[in-house]
Amino acid sequence: MRHRALLAGLTGLLTLLVAGCGDDTGPPAASAPASPPPSAALPPEASPSPTRTVAPKPRLRPLPAKLPAGLVRTTGSEKVALTFDDGPSPTWTPKVLDQLKAAKVKATFCVVGTQVRKHPELLRRIVREGHQLCNHSWNHDLDLARRPIPEIRADLVRTNREIRRAVPDAKVPFYRQPGGRWTAEVVKVAKQLDMRSLHWTIDPKDWAKPSATTIEKRVKRSARPGAVVLLHDGGGNRSATLAACSKLITVLKRDHGVSKIA
Ligand SMILES: [Zn+2]
Repeated sequence: MRHRALLAGLTGLLTLLVAGCGDDTGPPAASAPASPPPSAALPPEASPSPTRTVAPKPRLRPLPAKLPAGLVRTTGSEKVALTFDDGPSPTWTPKVLDQLKAAKVKATFCVVGTQVRKHPELLRRIVREGHQLCNHSWNHDLDLARRPIPEIRADLVRTNREIRRAVPDAKVPFYRQPGGRWTAEVVKVAKQLDMRSLHWTIDPKDWAKPSATTIEKRVKRSARPGAVVLLHDGGGNRSATLAACSKLITVLKRDHGVSKIA
């Protein structure tokens, strides 16, 4: 029993190592031979009966050691872009939109499908006011890029369908992987669906709830021509982001200009 478990563990480990070689652009894991994850074979005590069969867990492909090729990380101009993730949120998105409108600047909203389903009127306002849309997955699945390709595709398609249920002719030129946990596979699927994969240049980590001053300082310190700034208008209390934005928008507009992504 212990031997068998050890062997299975080794096999799992080997598969993991082979699949995880650097910038893996090889065949997708979905078409690789199915093998249980290494954890399924550990430890022997976890299987009380030798005849018990354990259903294999869905296999996640490993994250590559570095970001895959093909990510958009700059605006394509001297101007900087503000991107707002995880909304639309009825609490925060209207306030962000008000600030953008007052400053007469356009931003990019990376929206989550389930939020769009709950708040289609907010999506309509985002589009009506001239901002750009980015697909941010159906339910913010951090592991989406590691799943079988058909699952990735279904998730992205479902999200775009929900966006277009709210705004029938909406353009969705970008996809952004939740958590920035990209794989070559998700980039490829997004491309097949006519979406470029949008990463960022500056992450002030507003999701970790620093103060508004800290968010502001982090963005200002790293601001360069063409930078893409990652911010959040959903997924939690965004009062600090909002407070930082009121100053950041003015400064970035003055120093670089703020625009959508070309
Ligand atoms: Zn997100």
